[in-house]
Amino acid sequence: MLDNYRSPWLDEDVAPFADSVRRFVTTQLAPMEEKWREQHQADRASWLATGEMGMILPDIDVEYGGSGGTPAHLAVVVSELFYAGVSGMGVGINHIVGHYILDDGTEAQKQHWLPKIASGEVICSVAMTEPGTGSDLQAVRTRAVKQGDKYVINGAKTFITNGQTSDMVAVVAKTDMSAGSKGISIFLVDTKLPGFRRGKCLDKIGLQSSDTSEMFFDDVEVPADCLLGGIEGKGLYTLMKQLPFERAQIAIGAAATMERALKLTLEYTKERQVFGKPVLDFQNTRFSLADVKATVFASRTFCDHIIAQWVNGKLDSTLASMGKFWLTERQSEVLDTCLQFFGGYGYMNEYPIARMWADARVARIYGGANEIQRELVGRSL
Ligand SMILES: Cc1cc2nc3c(=O)[nH]c(=O)nc-3n(C[C@H](O)[C@H](O)[C@H](O)COP(=O)(O)OP(=O)(O)OC[C@H]3O[C@@H](n4cnc5c(N)ncnc54)[C@H](O)[C@@H]3O)c2cc1C
Repeated sequence: MLDNYRSPWLDEDVAPFADSVRRFVTTQLAPMEEKWREQHQADRASWLATGEMGMILPDIDVEYGGSGGTPAHLAVVVSELFYAGVSGMGVGINHIVGHYILDDGTEAQKQHWLPKIASGEVICSVAMTEPGTGSDLQAVRTRAVKQGDKYVINGAKTFITNGQTSDMVAVVAKTDMSAGSKGISIFLVDTKLPGFRRGKCLDKIGLQSSDTSEMFFDDVEVPADCLLGGIEGKGLYTLMKQLPFERAQIAIGAAATMERALKLTLEYTKERQVFGKPVLDFQNTRFSLADVKATVFASRTFCDHIIAQWVNGKLDSTLASMGKFWLTERQSEVLDTCLQFFGGYGYMNEYPIARMWADARVARIYGGANEIQRELVGRSL
């Protein structure tokens, strides 16, 4: 697609993993998408098979159930899922929660959760957003009040990915309402606990195979050792530390999606005859797709820089935010341009380009709206 370009981080250690992940994703997961779209969630058996393949938390130590790889292995997983159009499995959320625990959890929390998260036995959610607040994380109203050796959690969350299926939710809650950012903590909550309730699976314009839900916490009593790291008030620190990696995953997904869009559009426009010639033979199509190809190439090299910095432990918040807003906006433009060349078929859900177009819209909103990303980058100027 991008002629002879090869991502520098896709070295001899990572390339064989990429090959086997692509085979697995194409043969085992992509064919499931149709069913997952109907039921608005992925099957548990597929989560387990994905864990078995070493695709969940591939970058953490074997001791904790990972594969001992690097962020490059994680980038492979994200890229291949997006490239194949598999949007039903929110493994990215398992990666995020796994890293909260790996970096800031107690040893007991690591031993208890990480192997199960990596195997796919435990599906995770991250519950930050509430009906009253999303972008302004410090305004969360969910409360966790200490009572003896437990905390009692009350509050409501919304737009939570894996919300219908998760076994454990990393809940962002206030342990001190008067301490501002220092009053925020994260709790690892088992969804079988009394008082936890899932709301309805929300009706979205895209990402039909992914479950996104409300969640309610009514006097949910959790043992004190569910507090991440065992120290109150460290929640915002953990979130801020991990957000660049979440944003990098969104940027990687955008780059892979654009590559797929260009591939599908070239295939279609070479095939589809209009006025007696392939759509690609119109100069307008060639000029537009030349622009798309340049954008896809620039996006790939930008994305590769982000991955390389991540692998080298140098991915900072500014770079991740730049990548998140820039790549997701190019993604929307590229998909819109590509969809046009499919004519009416581009508007039919049966065609992957239509789904990709609808799925892509959210990438400019979640993981922190792109305006927030610009704010963050603005601080570096
Ligand atoms: C499909 C989907 C999946 C999601 N998954 C999760 C999940 O798993 N866990 C979770 O916790 N959340 C999740 N979210 C929530 C998502 O992260 C929030 O929707 C997002 O952070 C924006 O918050 P909000 O919707 O409350 O918008 P608001 O905070 O109400 O913002 C609305 C708009 O205001 C503008 N705006 C906000 N702040 C600023 C600013 N400082 N400067 C300029 N403009 C600004 C932006 O245009 C923004 O889009 C998901 C959302 C969707 C749609």
